[in-house]
Amino acid sequence: MADVKILGAGLAGCEAALWLAKQGHRVELYEQKPCVYSPAHKKEGFAELVCSNSLKSDRIDSAGGLLKAEMRRLGSHLLPIAAQCSVAAGGALAVNRDEFSALVTQAVEQCENITVIRQEVTEIDTENGITLVATGPLTQGKLAEQINRMTGGKKLSFYDAAAPIVTAESLDMEKVFAASRWGKGDADYLNCPFDKDGYEAFYQELISAERAPLHDFDGDGEVTVYEGCMPVEIMAKRGPDTLRFGPLKPVGLTDPSTGRRPWANVQLRRENKEGTLFNLVGFQTNLKFGEQKRVFRMIPGLENAEFARYGVMHRNTFLNSPMLLNQTLNLKEYPNVYFAGQITGFEGYMESAACGLLAARAIHARLLGEQPEQFSIGCMVGALLEYITQENKDFQPMGANMGLLPPLETRIRDKRERYAEVSRRALEALEKSIRYDK
Ligand SMILES: Cc1cc2nc3c(=O)[nH]c(=O)nc-3n(C[C@H](O)[C@H](O)[C@H](O)COP(=O)(O)OP(=O)(O)OC[C@H]3O[C@@H](n4cnc5c(N)ncnc54)[C@H](O)[C@@H]3O)c2cc1C
Repeated sequence: MADVKILGAGLAGCEAALWLAKQGHRVELYEQKPCVYSPAHKKEGFAELVCSNSLKSDRIDSAGGLLKAEMRRLGSHLLPIAAQCSVAAGGALAVNRDEFSALVTQAVEQCENITVIRQEVTEIDTENGITLVATGPLTQGKLAEQINRMTGGKKLSFYDAAAPIVTAESLDMEKVFAASRWGKGDADYLNCPFDKDGYEAFYQELISAERAPLHDFDGDGEVTVYEGCMPVEIMAKRGPDTLRFGPLKPVGLTDPSTGRRPWANVQLRRENKEGTLFNLVGFQTNLKFGEQKRVFRMIPGLENAEFARYGVMHRNTFLNSPMLLNQTLNLKEYPNVYFAGQITGFEGYMESAACGLLAARAIHARLLGEQPEQFSIGCMVGALLEYITQENKDFQPMGANMGLLPPLETRIRDKRERYAEVSRRALEALEKSIRYDK
């Protein structure tokens, strides 16, 4: 009998399987292709990159580069394969996707400790042995239904309409002011006050900006959305004042620089405890990323905003991890069942693979009867783990970004130098967290 069953041979599942097998554990890896395909998967191979072929930056002074450096230290098997089939992409690591998938498939199939079973899993055995669910954001059918039942219903999100998130350090604090409406609370929000001309110019650009195409599996052209997650650009089309009476209402606020109520006001809400990231309240959007940057930078105070993540709308099945998962990535109520990949809220190809490594290491500790490693929030994998497990009413998936890490105590003006220092400190923190050397 296998020590661990892994469901899904995507990025997280393959990374976890290869790592566990290398430690000598016997793994059964279940993959539904080619019997069943999700609407985004098209090819038989494992670790299929369903959209872009970029694995993002590999520079150490960037969030993507730091994440990769940490993954190499944690014993990633996918990154050396990516290096073998990389294609020129500036500072980014991009791959020939077919070659990448072929090499990962070969590595998995040739691994003595891994038995590949090509079948759709429709049920998780919660009693016997350890199962790692890595079936991705398009998990569907009976398996999705069971996960939904196991997690108490309504705790598995099937539709993702998220607002963009910006880094606090990129805001112009000369223009932005902290205040809660009517002076309630502890000035928990940051406010970006529009005057009439600024708002009108912004409004015109917003209603004419280009939207991203919806994939066929997201709906038939126009998706039906709940009022609560209506994209801001669609709501705006109802009339010039709709936003001013909705998410951009200025009532109860006084702009300290004018002493008056703004014409319209965008609120920014903290995204993490540390206050290094803020989301744009009510700005769920389906605009193209470039358009988000162009149009949302017209908001006062956001002229140089750095987007830690853009707003997205697509089908996306993810757990309400803050309610459901331990830091070891197993369910609080079913400790034999672990999750890894995008389904946990680690967003992105490399983040999903990194999550596979974290789950594998937690399972390894469990199989050895040892205490699991505890990853410092000072490193990227630890910060992501903390993000998905800390209390969060509006939980949305999150990718690696520098805003997740605690700020430096000394100010370094040059961004590249600052990020290089943050990365150096993060790798040091990771080193202290590691007990299993690859
Ligand atoms: C449409 C779309 C586009 C995306 N584009 C990007 C992008 O460009 N860049 C980026 O960084 N991130 C992107 N993401 C987000 C994320 O990085 C990817 O979804 C990533 O592939 C997630 O990795 P994973 O290992 O969690 O899941 P996946 O890579 O999806 O792997 C899941 C695997 O499980 C298998 N499986 C599913 N159900 C079962 C079952 N019941 N039984 C057996 N096997 C099963 C699937 O066939 C698949 O092989 C995108 C997501 C979506 C939905």
